[in-house]
Amino acid sequence: LMQLFRPLDLLGMVYRTIRQGLVDMDAMFRLIDTEPEIADKPGATKLNVSDGTVEFDDVHFNYDEERKILKGLSFAVPSGKTLAIVGPSGAGKSTIARLLFRFYDPQGGRILIDGQDIADVTQNSLRSAIGIVPQDSVLFNDSIGYNIAYGRDGSTQTDVETAASGAALDNFIAQLPDGYKTQVGERGLKLSGGEKQRVAIARTLLKNPPILILDEATSALDSRTEDEIQATLAKISERRTTLIIAHRLSTITHADEIIVLDKGQIAERGDHRALLAKNGLYADMWKRQAEERELA
Ligand code: ATP
Repeated sequence: LMQLFRPLDLLGMVYRTIRQGLVDMDAMFRLIDTEPEIADKPGATKLNVSDGTVEFDDVHFNYDEERKILKGLSFAVPSGKTLAIVGPSGAGKSTIARLLFRFYDPQGGRILIDGQDIADVTQNSLRSAIGIVPQDSVLFNDSIGYNIAYGRDGSTQTDVETAASGAALDNFIAQLPDGYKTQVGERGLKLSGGEKQRVAIARTLLKNPPILILDEATSALDSRTEDEIQATLAKISERRTTLIIAHRLSTITHADEIIVLDKGQIAERGDHRALLAKNGLYADMWKRQAEERELA
């Protein structure tokens, strides 16, 4: 019988998520396998963002009892700075983003934004403070304008155009047969990986959050597109506190701090130069990726 109720539960969760104004579809899809449901505490207050500092304070987390994913993770990202998280597949990088978005609560420790524990604030206020540019964006079968406007309720055509220009999509859209009204998605124009990412960037620009999570795609785009996207991302992360979940080290050499996550703990930390000088895990990863780049 419980099996019967699960889809209803799920619909309820999706509905609540939409109602709460969670604007990131990808995030929403990932929420679907989240249980138990995270709820606002009674009397939860609104998150009050002043500088947008993010702090993980001795965070312990596991999805299942048997396997610890994060084992006492501590780091702080000062206002407007960029932290990059690297490490082998399965190290827990995306988990950090999911915890910051409060898809799950940690079993130990605290996650703070401007000194406020995110477990004590409303999810709505938390999620409206954080923008995610995901690995792979979901596009609706609708116009490209609609797909951008989705970033914020009530955005005007001018807002959409400004965001498109910030994401360097304006020239592309100008060449489309129906401009902003061109249908995209499964039943319309198929966008390339880079173009889809730009739509996600434009949505995020509309949302204008003080905190940004950039979840880098595992597979690289072609190198010119990649460079252009990187330049756009660098621009939108200026003055915003940014966490980058990175797979390619070449994209994060500018980060203020890089943490190398290994088996749920920080194995190394520092900026790019300091980490290279350490000649440890990061330096090894860098050498390996440099060789791969040369081969390519
Ligand atoms: P990648 O670089 O491959 O994206 P990652 O470092 O981002 O990896 P996470 O996605 O954070 O890794 O996952 C960390 C570990 O937690 C992995 O071993 C993964 O299998 C496990 N995991 C992730 N999501 C869940 C879940 N919903 N339930 C149970 N285990 C999970």
